[in-house]
Amino acid sequence: MAEYKNIMVYVETAEENPVKVGLEMLSPAKEHAEKVTAVVIGSGVADAAKKVAEAGADQVICVDSEDYKEYNLDAYATVLTQLVKDENPEAVFIGGTQDGKDIAPAVAAKLGVGCASDVLAVKAEDGEIVYTCPLYGGTVLEDVKIASTPQVATLRSGAFQKVENPSEGEVVAKEVKVPEDVIKAKITESVKEIAETINLEEAEVIVSGGRGMGSKENFALVEELANILGGVVGATRPAIEDGWVSKIHQVGQSGKIVAPKLYIACGISGATQHVSGIMNSGYIVAINKDEDAPIFDVANVGIVGDVMKVLPVMIEEIKKIKD
Ligand code: FAD
Repeated sequence: MAEYKNIMVYVETAEENPVKVGLEMLSPAKEHAEKVTAVVIGSGVADAAKKVAEAGADQVICVDSEDYKEYNLDAYATVLTQLVKDENPEAVFIGGTQDGKDIAPAVAAKLGVGCASDVLAVKAEDGEIVYTCPLYGGTVLEDVKIASTPQVATLRSGAFQKVENPSEGEVVAKEVKVPEDVIKAKITESVKEIAETINLEEAEVIVSGGRGMGSKENFALVEELANILGGVVGATRPAIEDGWVSKIHQVGQSGKIVAPKLYIACGISGATQHVSGIMNSGYIVAINKDEDAPIFDVANVGIVGDVMKVLPVMIEEIKKIKD
């Protein structure tokens, strides 16, 4: 018997496709609820809604309107709150993306209910859901129960697997209007280039460089390896502070929490604030000249050596395999 009758999952879209965490959240929802109702909001998102239905949601409510072409906190939170009131789910799961972290507390506040953030695991205890959340940059995990109904939770990208062998659910189109006076702030411009070139949270391969890369010129090796592997460039805070790469590449507690299949750390010591952002990676390879560097405690493969000697060899060998 599932703990809850209905869990609602808000599935964000990017470039008219459901984002990875949106589909991942369907599996814990299905595990703990008889029915999973997904919600897709946007403009031109009918195909995305179908993909969510194919990924295992029992029902997908698709709010497709020109009004929701651009993300707007006031509008999206109002629509989602309205749907929660209509559908009465016991819990609402929202992906821990930049927008998700924006919407979740707003929806919880509108409903006057509790919200768990950055959930890494969802389990059942005495017929209730318990959310496991990180504290102090992931050094401590706490189990959270939310006394209110519904419960709102943001789930971390990469913490859950997509539903295996899903059966296709139905898509229901719904119109939800938001009164003009609800919109307090509007986006006047969005810079597409940044969003398109860097998607650390969804990347399957990330090659990151730290202070051990030594200079902006040397950092080019990190970029070259990332390119060859079809991956994305990440960095530690010092590499950013030294101006080798821009802030959007930062991985860690005050950067992006990532969950690639492969994470390659080059000249990175493994400070807690960095490591807490990479713990959900499938496989970690670390290159560091100091054999006692803490990064080796979390790495699956550790290479003790000078990045300026190891990286060119890696790049050459990978090129040979690819040619
Ligand atoms: P270092 O710690 O200086 O390590 C460099 C490593 O490179 C060393 O282990 C060294 O042995 C190795 N090395 C040097 N030369 C070579 C070489 N030629 N070949 C191979 N290895 C070499 N940091 C983040 O990354 N992300 C965050 O989000 C973040 N948030 C923070 C938030 C707060 C509130 C605070 C206080 C700190 C935060 N930090 C963050 C900073 C963090 O504490 C560390 O200072 C940082 O992660 C260290 O970066 P690093 O590993 O590049 O540098």
